[in-house]
Amino acid sequence: MSGTDDREPKRRSGRPPPQSPERSALLARVRRTKTSAEEEVARLLRGLGLHYRRNVRTLPGSPDFANRTRGWAIFVNGCFWHHHTACSRATMPKNNRAFWEDKFAANRRRDAAKIRGLRALGFRVLVIWECELDGCAARLERLTRL
Ligand SMILES: [Zn+2]
Repeated sequence: MSGTDDREPKRRSGRPPPQSPERSALLARVRRTKTSAEEEVARLLRGLGLHYRRNVRTLPGSPDFANRTRGWAIFVNGCFWHHHTACSRATMPKNNRAFWEDKFAANRRRDAAKIRGLRALGFRVLVIWECELDGCAARLERLTRL
């Protein structure tokens, strides 16, 4: 008989699990970090005397910063949403794990497609992760001086 395993099957309520206050706070913090990371990159670019446009929707993937004439584009990626490999900020929420795994995988595929699309147009592409902001000025300068 199979009666040895009589654990109660998981009940399905049909409702999504409630969003905890902790998670709301986390998501709010992540959004703010993304914005401030972009502001920091904007500040660095201005400091280097570089001209750029922001959120360039006429280019593949709407890069956060780009200069068409110079042929470069920059994405500023939040480590959580874009799931930075081996980064401590790229945490996996415990609730709805399958949902988040799918979401992060889709985000990463989309990111890779954006970069391919820009490279196909001859752009040099730099991805700046929010955890790498310190010390990224030299990378910005290399990218944009070529
Ligand atoms: Zn990171």
